[in-house]
Amino acid sequence: MDDSLLEALPIPAILIGPNERIAKANGAATDLFGPSVEGRHYVTALRQPALLDCVEAALRLGRRAEAVYLSVEASRETTWQATAGSVTLDKGRGVLLSFEDTTAMREAGQMRRDFVANVSHELRTPLTALLGFVETLKGAARDDAAARDRFLEIMEREAGRMNRLVQDLLSLSRVESEERVRPTDPVDVAGLVNSTALTMAPLAETAGVRIETDGLDREAEVAGDADQLLQVFANLTENAIKYSGPGSVVMLSLSRLDHDPTVRGPSVTVVVRDTGEGIDPVHIPRLTERFYRVDSHRSREMGGTGLGLAIVKHIVNRHRGRLRIESEPGEGSRFSVILPIR
Ligand code: ADP
Repeated sequence: MDDSLLEALPIPAILIGPNERIAKANGAATDLFGPSVEGRHYVTALRQPALLDCVEAALRLGRRAEAVYLSVEASRETTWQATAGSVTLDKGRGVLLSFEDTTAMREAGQMRRDFVANVSHELRTPLTALLGFVETLKGAARDDAAARDRFLEIMEREAGRMNRLVQDLLSLSRVESEERVRPTDPVDVAGLVNSTALTMAPLAETAGVRIETDGLDREAEVAGDADQLLQVFANLTENAIKYSGPGSVVMLSLSRLDHDPTVRGPSVTVVVRDTGEGIDPVHIPRLTERFYRVDSHRSREMGGTGLGLAIVKHIVNRHRGRLRIESEPGEGSRFSVILPIR
């Protein structure tokens, strides 16, 4: 067989001759198995039992066989679907072994399973509490008016938590499904930041936090989805309020740049800054993952779902913008949303 045939394939491929030795391995295959596999017996070169069984089946019985091959290099694990097909060569029957990279598919499957497990866990906690209190109200607390009121209040809080979780999950799936469709409506960003400050004022007041704004007199129009951008500013402002103590200030500021290197052109940036507890740098890269929290107990106490920043990230991506998180533990945090004007 012409060697250049194997070399032309974009996937790892190995030709095993009738003498059971490797006659040819293309470049992608030597990346996977090392540079010196040619000429070696397939058993010593390929080693993994599942792979050897499938080559043997193809070699002896002349039928196609498949196996999963796991490779670990530089601590990265990759998964391959190996197919051994029987080929007729000048000197007898040989095997063409090829490998399809299924790592991404496997990882996507794992992510889906983790996500379902996380959602179930998040829902189970309030649901268990609700069922427990219903049981108590039907039994021991049936005629105790004071206990009933207290339990109903807790039940309301737990049901509210489930409701927020379901709403956030729906928002997330909606935003994800639209992520590739860039929004086109002209949106006045200063107006949105202003309404965010107004709608968040009652929450800030209850928490003893002051909201200040800066730069809202600037003209700042981008192509966007107003409802979604409002959700971005609201989520960031709500976090800033939640994670800073009474007496602190949350600042919403808007600025414009004619040439912003991060978006390679003119931009509008909204910064939500708080003077709260700040975030340890080790957590920053993971904050936008679904259900990632620095302190799960604290987040749940505050009624958080752990999805707020994941939603923010997807909306900003849809606008081809950038989310930048900077924080100094003890000094507070800055969340910047950089939106391209064109
Ligand atoms: P949550 O519902 O828990 O607030 P988010 O996705 O909005 O979920 O945020 C993820 C985590 O990031 C939070 O649990 C919190 O630990 C951290 N975080 C977010 N914003 C701030 C902030 N302004 N200051 C300190 N920590 C924050």
